[in-house]
Amino acid sequence: RQRAPRAQRARATQGGRGRGEEAHWRRGGSGAGNASGGVTLAARGGAAFASSPLQMASSFIPVPAGSDFPLGNLPLGAVVRGAGGRPSLAVALGDSVVDLKALHVAGLLSLGGPVGDGACFTHPTANAFLDLGPDAWALTRAALTRLLTASEGVLRDKGGVRDAAILGASTVSNVLPMAVGDYTDFYCSRVHAQTCGELFRDPEAALNPNWSRLPVGYGGRASSVAVSGTPIARPHGQMAPAEPGGTPRFGPTAKLDFELEFAAVVGGPPNARGAPVPVDAAAARVYGYVLMNDWSARDVQAWESVPLGPFVGKSFATTVSPWIVAAAALAPHAAPAPPQDPAPLAYLDERARTLPDVALTAEVVPAGRGARAATTVTLSNVRHLYWTFPQMLAHHTVGGCVLRAGDLVGSGTVSAPGARGAGCLLEATADGARPLALRGGGSRTWLLDGDEVVLRGRCAAREGVEGLGFGCARGVVVARASARERALQ
Ligand code: MN
Repeated sequence: RQRAPRAQRARATQGGRGRGEEAHWRRGGSGAGNASGGVTLAARGGAAFASSPLQMASSFIPVPAGSDFPLGNLPLGAVVRGAGGRPSLAVALGDSVVDLKALHVAGLLSLGGPVGDGACFTHPTANAFLDLGPDAWALTRAALTRLLTASEGVLRDKGGVRDAAILGASTVSNVLPMAVGDYTDFYCSRVHAQTCGELFRDPEAALNPNWSRLPVGYGGRASSVAVSGTPIARPHGQMAPAEPGGTPRFGPTAKLDFELEFAAVVGGPPNARGAPVPVDAAAARVYGYVLMNDWSARDVQAWESVPLGPFVGKSFATTVSPWIVAAAALAPHAAPAPPQDPAPLAYLDERARTLPDVALTAEVVPAGRGARAATTVTLSNVRHLYWTFPQMLAHHTVGGCVLRAGDLVGSGTVSAPGARGAGCLLEATADGARPLALRGGGSRTWLLDGDEVVLRGRCAAREGVEGLGFGCARGVVVARASARERALQ
């Protein structure tokens, strides 16, 4: 293979990146055996958090053991009380939500500095807050942690404010926390790209030559992004003719699939047009992450995608989990990213490559069978991605593209090595050739009307670091007519 230019080779052997870290990764190995390697790096990355006395503190709001939303998480969302109300920004804590607008009205979020008077907390979307950047996010996070800590009386002892601001999660509904201006989807899992390449390209050359040189991506459709729980109407579209040269088929997709993905929510002031975000500055442009299901109509996608990529087969729906887990909350859960060969070009050469160690699952709940019949299709982890999020953002902007607060950047299907690592049905069933057995009987090649797909993500607890999670991203497939009827009800 081609050798990297001399400058890159030199850089790869210096200091933090390169041989030392690769060796560190190899020593750790993969899977469960990697725990020690992961802890070492995570402890370094999360030192600021581990040393904070508030990190493992408890709240005066009860948090059930094993909750996805302990005090160390405080994910950002937007909630509505009652029908048709105006959304309020909120953070989740245990089985409660804390309304940031109510805290602002009580004078508790006028934090000064980069947050100013805190007017952004009265907005129905998080975009203005996301726009402020990392200093404002850290200030807000520290203030909320302090307000909600058991030993702090400022909020705890103010009954009126508590009643106005702290609500049972079951008494509100979540809406999208940000207005998504642009949505991009990458293709960063080597296992996924390899398997798809073996199915549809030459098995001997499954990966396109560009794949290991740049994070491959495409511009998605921002209007497709929907909050967890939104019913997914089965899309209609054109599919390949039954005979070559014949008339294309048209109708509801027969190959509806899910894609288990992890997505960054962009923040910070927009870069100037024509001014790329350097790879080592790109982490500052990520506020946090959500789970994402990039629903796909494989038969529509197969017919339309050459030569310009996915279009109608993916633009109908993209489900995201309702709570944005801050990158700051994930810092203690950083794991080394897999080593890269060939060495990336200079603009993608990140000093310390990490990925959050988030265990991901995808379940299919068959139509009419209830949650107990859920079949876990996928067991994966974000740390299997080949390209990191800073690398995705650096590549995204290298031509001069502007990233704005609220942009959504998906990883692509996150598949893992092993029998249960397939992050979509396309992989799990080898494009429909190998039906997947369902728990309690029956099977699926593709999703049927009434099937529900539930994605979950969780960072495990370790000594000195509490576990946390993402809640879930769920959606039920419905026939198009019934989706319209539901909307009219
Ligand atoms: Mn995708």
